[in-house]
Amino acid sequence: MKRCSISPRQGLSLDRACGAVGILLGLLCQVVQWVFIAVIGLILIIAAFILPFIFWRCPACRRWLPTFRTWDLSCCPYCRERID
Ligand SMILES: [Zn+2]
Repeated sequence: MKRCSISPRQGLSLDRACGAVGILLGLLCQVVQWVFIAVIGLILIIAAFILPFIFWRCPACRRWLPTFRTWDLSCCPYCRERID
């Protein structure tokens, strides 16, 4: 099966970074009142909701991985492929 260029763990880190930066920009726009910062923050927060559906999948069987207890998830619960 074709492997994704980005691993599920990298995807999850990217997702959390998007969410964190989005929230920070949301807070920042309260201070500086720049609309484009609010728009970028909103796009990042929306991306943080969408990214797990793209990246948080098993690289071997392409099934979605569980979203709970992700820190000790070392292999796919469906096909036992290692998640790195
Ligand atoms: Zn799998």
